[in-house]
Amino acid sequence: MPQRYPYRNDNINQYRVRSLASHNLAEAYVKQRKIFRHRKHVKHKYQVVAVLLLVGLVIAVSMFLAYGSGLWTITSSNITKTQPQIPILGNFNNGKVESSTSANSVKTNEILTTPINIADINDSGFLRLINHDHSISADVSDELLADAWINISSVDDTTKLHKDILPSVGKLFDAAKMQSGQNLVITSGFRSYDEQSVLYDSYEDKSYVHRPGHSEHQSGLAVDIADLNAQAEENSDKLSRSQLWLAEHSWKYGLILRYPDDKQEITGIAYEPWHFRYVGKVHAWYMQLHGLCFEEYLKTLRDIGGYTITLDEQTHYVFYQKPIDNVIYIPGKLKYNVSGDGSGGYIIETWG
Ligand SMILES: [Zn+2]
Repeated sequence: MPQRYPYRNDNINQYRVRSLASHNLAEAYVKQRKIFRHRKHVKHKYQVVAVLLLVGLVIAVSMFLAYGSGLWTITSSNITKTQPQIPILGNFNNGKVESSTSANSVKTNEILTTPINIADINDSGFLRLINHDHSISADVSDELLADAWINISSVDDTTKLHKDILPSVGKLFDAAKMQSGQNLVITSGFRSYDEQSVLYDSYEDKSYVHRPGHSEHQSGLAVDIADLNAQAEENSDKLSRSQLWLAEHSWKYGLILRYPDDKQEITGIAYEPWHFRYVGKVHAWYMQLHGLCFEEYLKTLRDIGGYTITLDEQTHYVFYQKPIDNVIYIPGKLKYNVSGDGSGGYIIETWG
C-alpha cells in the first residue's frame, strides 16, 4: 500500500471536506499570525514609550538632585557667561593658576602669581561690607582721615573723610558744578563710634540709621551730600533733581548710591538719596552696569570668581579669593589694590 497523503481519502467527499477544512485552518492560522504580529507590534511600541519615559524620569531626577546639591545652579555666573573671563590669571585652585585662557600668558603664569601674607597687605578696605550683619571692628584710624575742605566744599571745617577718597569726591563736586550748576556740600562725613551712638539714640525712626559699630560713616568712606542752593531755598524739587543727578553720575567717580529705592529689602535701609559710599571706580562701574547694590555685587564676585573690565583704555582684572593659610596670591607684574570684603574674603583689582 502506498502511503497516503494524510488528508487523502478514498472518499473524495471526505477528501474535499478535509481539504476545505485544511484551507480554512491555514487561513485561520494566517489570521492568527497577523493578529499575533499586530499585538506584538503594539506591545513593542508600548515598551519603547515606557523606556523613553523611564529615561526622561531618570534625567529629571538627576537634574533635581544636582540642583539640590549645588552642582547645577542658576547663578549670576550663568547669566554673565558672555562676560570675558580673566584672560591672564586663569582660575585659582589652591592658590595655583590652574589654566589660562590667553595663549600669550602661558609662559608667564608662574611669575604672575606672588603669594602674600594677608598680614603684610595694605588693605584699602574700599570694599569692606558694613551693614546690619557686618560690623566695623574699629573706627578708621586717625592717620587715614583728612579734612574734607582740602579738596571739596563742606559745611564746616570739622568734616573729615578717608584721605584716599578725597580727590574722587572733589571731582564729583566739580562736575556737579560745571555740568548742572549745583553747589554741593557734605552734610556728614566721618563719624566716630560715639558720635554714631548719639545720632542713633536721637532717631526715633531707625530705618535710616545704623546702630553704632555698623555705620559706614565710621569707615570714612561714606558721605552724605546735599545741594546748598536747594537747601537754602528750601526747594525740595531742586533737591530731588540734584540727588537724581548724583545717582546718575557718582559711579563715574567711584561712589555708589548705597541705599537705592529698589534695593531696600537687601540693604535693610530705607532709600537715602543723599548717602554715597566710595568703593572705587572699577567696582562702581560694574555695579552700575549690572544694576547691583553693594551686597549683591559682593555675592556676585564670590559666585563668578572674577571679571575683566576696560575703562579709559585700561583693562582691569577683578577677582575674589579666600586666603589659604593666611596667604592670597597677587599677579606679580601687575599693579593692584586689595580689599577685604568684611567676611573673610579678599577682592583683588589688578591693572597695568
Ligand atoms: Zn549717611
